Amino acid sequence: MGLLDGKVAVVTGGGGGIGKAVAERYLAEGARGVVVVDNLAERADAVGRELGDRALGVCADVRSWADNLRVVETAVEAFGALDVYVGNAGIFDHAVHVADLTGPELEAGFDEIMAVNAKGCLLGVRAALEPLLASRGSVILTASWAGFRPAGGGVLYTMSKHAVVGLVRELAYELAPHVRVNGVAPGVAPTTLRGIESIGQGAKPSLMPGTEDALPLKRVPETADYAGIYAMLASPDASLMTGFVVEADSGLAVR
Ligand code: NAD
Repeated sequence: MGLLDGKVAVVTGGGGGIGKAVAERYLAEGARGVVVVDNLAERADAVGRELGDRALGVCADVRSWADNLRVVETAVEAFGALDVYVGNAGIFDHAVHVADLTGPELEAGFDEIMAVNAKGCLLGVRAALEPLLASRGSVILTASWAGFRPAGGGVLYTMSKHAVVGLVRELAYELAPHVRVNGVAPGVAPTTLRGIESIGQGAKPSLMPGTEDALPLKRVPETADYAGIYAMLASPDASLMTGFVVEADSGLAVR
């Protein structure tokens, strides 16, 4: 028996890193169907194919309301319901500091990163609301270590992930008792996240160490290490949890 037997999930940003690991784990935990969403068609298709009959790759942009609606309709049409919505698609900001950006760069960068990281989650959950209410389902949003403190990214990424933490809390309040809403705040993970390699290369060092030695648990996580947390939060084992963002940071909290 798996943690998610018979459940249907949507995982955005599922064409890469953490999202792909979550989709794999959901299927291993018995999910009846997982819709893997990515705005890069080749990633969505490849992961959809790789994960087999119970997975479906959909090319969609989380910034678009129409795309979010299409994703949810596809999930319900293909698998008959929607129980779990994972808002995970995200982009990074190359850890650039405010003084290194001009006004127009800030304006464009803010609009871009907020549209993917924050608005994408908001629109995705809204589009999924009807089937989630029907199934008394659950939402999990990917925040970040940078959702709680400075210097895990640049000014734009940090703002966008604080917005995700706020969204988890507000949605949990508004949607209780029908839909549980939680988040995961990863520390560091080896993925294709745009610009993640630039962490710590600016004028001031990042406070988010990515090396084994600097992490109290002495282990740089793999994407699969995060996936179990997403499985637990979506499962009946977390039935008393809503409004939490689980910080999975390799022990940085006790550094
Ligand atoms: P990743 O780049 O491997 O995966 C993100 C996926 O989202 C990519 O496949 C990308 O194509 C997709 N995507 C980007 N914009 C999109 C859009 N508009 N619509 C649909 N899909 C879109 O990176 P990842 O590290 O697995 O990132 C997953 C989440 O984890 C992100 O929200 C990221 O901010 C968060 N996170 C990552 C780290 C890390 O160290 N990698 C740390 C903390 C939080």
